[in-house]
Amino acid sequence: MPAFRTLDDADLAGKRVLVRVDLNVPMEEGRVSDTTRIDRILPTIREIAQKGGKVILLAHFGRPKGRDEKNSLRQVVPALAHALGQPVIFVGDCIGQEAPKAIAAAKNGEILLLENTRFHAGDEKNDPEFVKALAANGDLYVNDAFSAAHRAHASTEGLAHLLPAYAGRTMQAELEALSAGLDNPARPVMAIVGGAKVSTKLELLGNLVQKVDVLVIGGGMANTFLAARGVNVGKSLCEHDLAGTAREIEEKAKAAGCEILLPVDALVAREFKAHPGHRVVSIGEVGDDEMILDAGPLSVAEVVLKLNTVKTVVWNGPFGAFELPPFDTATVAVAKAVAERVRDGRLVAVAGGGDTVAAMNHAEVAEDLTYVSTAGGAFLEWMEGKALPGVEALRKG
Ligand code: AMP
Repeated sequence: MPAFRTLDDADLAGKRVLVRVDLNVPMEEGRVSDTTRIDRILPTIREIAQKGGKVILLAHFGRPKGRDEKNSLRQVVPALAHALGQPVIFVGDCIGQEAPKAIAAAKNGEILLLENTRFHAGDEKNDPEFVKALAANGDLYVNDAFSAAHRAHASTEGLAHLLPAYAGRTMQAELEALSAGLDNPARPVMAIVGGAKVSTKLELLGNLVQKVDVLVIGGGMANTFLAARGVNVGKSLCEHDLAGTAREIEEKAKAAGCEILLPVDALVAREFKAHPGHRVVSIGEVGDDEMILDAGPLSVAEVVLKLNTVKTVVWNGPFGAFELPPFDTATVAVAKAVAERVRDGRLVAVAGGGDTVAAMNHAEVAEDLTYVSTAGGAFLEWMEGKALPGVEALRKG
């Protein structure tokens, strides 16, 4: 039995159901450029609608400071309605006079989307008055936004204390998958951490070395570690001021018996663009005017060999600037090797984070991994073993 209340426990017919979802989707030229997050919330919306509830969607979009049309959820409505195959009624504010009227006018099974909760400062502040105003529009609260669950905001946490609260199907699937991947993982466990946000993830690395057996470091982050070991990384993305922290993490890993794998070779180029003309070099042979933009073939081979010795992989962040070919090579090669082993039943693999989802989609393995989480910060905090306020609030008492 799940440790959380789910839709199986909820009586939805005729109820106004406030559903917190993740609609923080990427946009290009006014259109949703990746519908993964929309696709993920469809089962919950459809189930509530089919069971006769009024679906009232709450979500944030971007980081507005007050009302700001650039961050209006109105622009997401066409993609959402298209994915649902059903109209979506847009309401221009999540509290105030308009929302109750629109909700009262809607029929059971209809779907409403309320405007960006972050147009009100009370959302991020978890202001009790704002929580009360939101709660006035619903009889039940369903949280299907795992990706926002690391924040104790009004729409992600506060509401769960005022209304009967349930995990949506995506939240439920996420919690079940991550528990299998991280709470009691089959050992040995390999963590792969890559990407650009070196400073934010260094903290994560410090925690992971105490929990996993092998830590593979890739992406811009690896450059900081290499530089701390005295390697010339040329003009690569690198946080030289974090060299001390990187050395501390290496020490911690040694003490905890966690093996750290860093790239032994790399694809380097002089310009940060697609097909800039690149060369493959051993680490230690990077020119002063060159930057490391991907891990090289020997590094990939080393990781793939190591994959044969582990039972669980948790992965966040690409090995290189995968948006710019050929610097997607290492990420794609390792992703395919992981996917193959999951298909053969040799590996449990959980990957997460915005860029990681894009990378797994690019490698065409998203369907093959055990679970791909669309959450960024929440996935990382889960990887760190932190309690997520939005999840805790749904726990059965
Ligand atoms: P993150 O959001 O922290 O997972 O970072 C993902 C971003 O890191 C992607 O946009 C990659 O292009 C970028 N990235 C990965 N490796 C490198 C690198 N060696 N140099 C520059 N950018 C990189």
